[in-house]
Amino acid sequence: MKVDMEKMVSLCKRRGFIFQSSEIYGGLSSCWDYGPLGVELKRNIKEAWWRAMVQEREDIVGLDSSILMHPKTWVASGHVDGFADPMVDCKECRQRWRADDTKDGRCPDCGGELTEPRMFNLMFKTFFGPVEDETATVYLRPETAQGIFVNFASVMNTARKKLPFGIAQIGKAFRNEITTGNFIFRSREFEMMEIEFFVKPDTADAWLNYWLEERFNWYTKLGIKGENLRLRQHAKDELAHYARSCYDIEYLFPMGWAELEGIAHRGDFDLAQHTQFSGKDLSYFDPDSNERYLPYVIEPSAGVDRSALAFLLDAYDEEPDKDEIRVVLRLHPDLAPIKVAILPLSRNESLIPMARDVYADLRKCFVTQFDDAQSIGRRYRRQDEIGTPFSVTIDFQSLEDNQVTIRERDSMKQIRVPRYIGELKRTLEAKLSGEPLDVLPPGGSYWLGFEG
Ligand code: ATP
Repeated sequence: MKVDMEKMVSLCKRRGFIFQSSEIYGGLSSCWDYGPLGVELKRNIKEAWWRAMVQEREDIVGLDSSILMHPKTWVASGHVDGFADPMVDCKECRQRWRADDTKDGRCPDCGGELTEPRMFNLMFKTFFGPVEDETATVYLRPETAQGIFVNFASVMNTARKKLPFGIAQIGKAFRNEITTGNFIFRSREFEMMEIEFFVKPDTADAWLNYWLEERFNWYTKLGIKGENLRLRQHAKDELAHYARSCYDIEYLFPMGWAELEGIAHRGDFDLAQHTQFSGKDLSYFDPDSNERYLPYVIEPSAGVDRSALAFLLDAYDEEPDKDEIRVVLRLHPDLAPIKVAILPLSRNESLIPMARDVYADLRKCFVTQFDDAQSIGRRYRRQDEIGTPFSVTIDFQSLEDNQVTIRERDSMKQIRVPRYIGELKRTLEAKLSGEPLDVLPPGGSYWLGFEG
């Protein structure tokens, strides 16, 4: 089901996923704060990426480089001269636009006449140390990639890697975007997940194809519907200064198809530039072919915030539920902020001790939430709306037979299982990894039916 951006912004605010930054001061445009649920979602996205791209592979290692770098880095990378967007102003309403967004040549807001385009550099500048002059100027990094390139030799030598291998990094990046908007799609501070994959030059095209497929599949494995994703190749006149070819993985956002991740063939541009500007030889000696060369680079570069938005939009669903509408976030269990909700049937004092016991046990294993306010039906709906895959309910029968109910978000099916931690943990782990709910674990469990 398609959901519009307003509904998603409102759900995110209402449930504590994402707030406007500095809201009590009227907000700072295009900056966002991730609340208790949003921070879990973002952690899960980064964790899923790191697990698939670093932990489960033998050819990629991680890095966490600093945001502030030697200013020469950005001269070598081409950002000081080239990382700029053409900007125009409307002579009537004074609104400022990226020239790309004014294809008709008139102000998209009021139709007014526009100024000639001027180039505007997107890097944020600040000063290093107490003296605020040109020699102390440093930049907030607009991408994490350059931190990887300048560490290429150190990482390769210390991790004892041979080509082909990659370096992965997750971190904040800053771009003084001319126009922002569409919620967390384009902001001035955001987080990136980047890999620079170093290869022998004559294998680069094959590796580019490999990464296109690998990265596309990462999104579908985590639940994004295939029909909402596509690959788009950049036209020659669209290529960034460093790219030999480039593809975008695009998602069908409410405002249309837009970039989720860029996968670029950077050739040896960066290593050659840094070799020239630093005077340090960054070439690679290939022991297999006994020759020395600059590796080529394939770069899959993804945004954490854009991914979060795509995962939320794609998971959103509404279905009729008696006289009401049930809103469900069908998030993949690996991404769901809360894995298990512990819900005593009511606040009856005989139920609470066992419920709190189960809660104390389970929160050691999963991100868990305890909720005993309002009717059980309302609490199920609340958990559905934030994407919690499973709820565990403690009722009066639990006090007699020491069994609790596990209820599944997507199907609303329920089973009864022993409340003991070993049993409950094993069952929930299996279900969170995709085992169907009606495959019953041993130990006295039984099928209960549907909620309601
Ligand atoms: P766009 O054309 O949308 O400005 P870009 O081509 O400049 O994006 P890249 O430099 O390829 O973007 O950055 C890689 C990824 O980083 C993007 O695919 C996106 O997910 C994320 N990203 C880039 N700029 C922003 C931003 N201003 N806000 C949020 N995410 C961003």
